[in-house]
Amino acid sequence: MGSTPPILIVSDLHLDVEPGPTLSEFLQFLEGPVRAASALYVLGDLFDYWVGDDAGFAAAEKLADAVSALPLPVSFQHGNRDFLLGNAYAERAGMTLAPEELPVEFEIGEALLMHGDSLCTADTEYLRFRDVVRRPDWQQAFLARPLAERIAEAERLRGISRGAGQMKASDITDVHPDAVAEVLRRHDRSLLIHGHTHRPAIHHFPVDGRPCMRCVLPSWDGVPGYLAVDAHGLRLLTLDGRDYPVASGVPSSPA
Ligand code: MN
Repeated sequence: MGSTPPILIVSDLHLDVEPGPTLSEFLQFLEGPVRAASALYVLGDLFDYWVGDDAGFAAAEKLADAVSALPLPVSFQHGNRDFLLGNAYAERAGMTLAPEELPVEFEIGEALLMHGDSLCTADTEYLRFRDVVRRPDWQQAFLARPLAERIAEAERLRGISRGAGQMKASDITDVHPDAVAEVLRRHDRSLLIHGHTHRPAIHHFPVDGRPCMRCVLPSWDGVPGYLAVDAHGLRLLTLDGRDYPVASGVPSSPA
């Protein structure tokens, strides 16, 4: 017991086009805690936007170099910002592109990994936008446009998204309890791990009388952190390995 290295999970780094402080923090994280881990999962919004694997942004290239050198499996799920990240870049970085709902088997039990944006079902305006931009024909048309146009469009959408987020009530931009219950039921899981909402916490709640847990990862725009999962349970940690300020350690495994 306790000898298996932990699995580490992060999301919402929102890395910029050019290398900046968050990229430096992440590269340090890869050289530190990740070196002692058995696997790394990135649950989306690794990048603040993605306009195609051909863009060759400096931060993305540096990141690919570092991630591809890791001696452990790395999985990536799309977020609502980097949903266009494709096979070419994933391969270059040595990451597996995971489906948007990823059931996993951890030592402490089964879990479901998601970015989390699809659970914000009260935000009907966003879900309509999501339906459009996740269509293969929309994506093909977008990726066929000149790079400069794609960048301009991504910058424009980022501006709208930030403005809209500030205008919406906080319960609209959070996950909906019904959507959480539905996805846990459908995958027969009692543990959900997601990012996106930037509201790091570990929640306990029942679904059909079954005790469930929902672990929300922090955004690296605020206090960066990660989730460590081992045989003993889950812990939300800051980059220096301390318990994350808003959530205490949860030693018990999910029911
Ligand atoms: Mn997101």
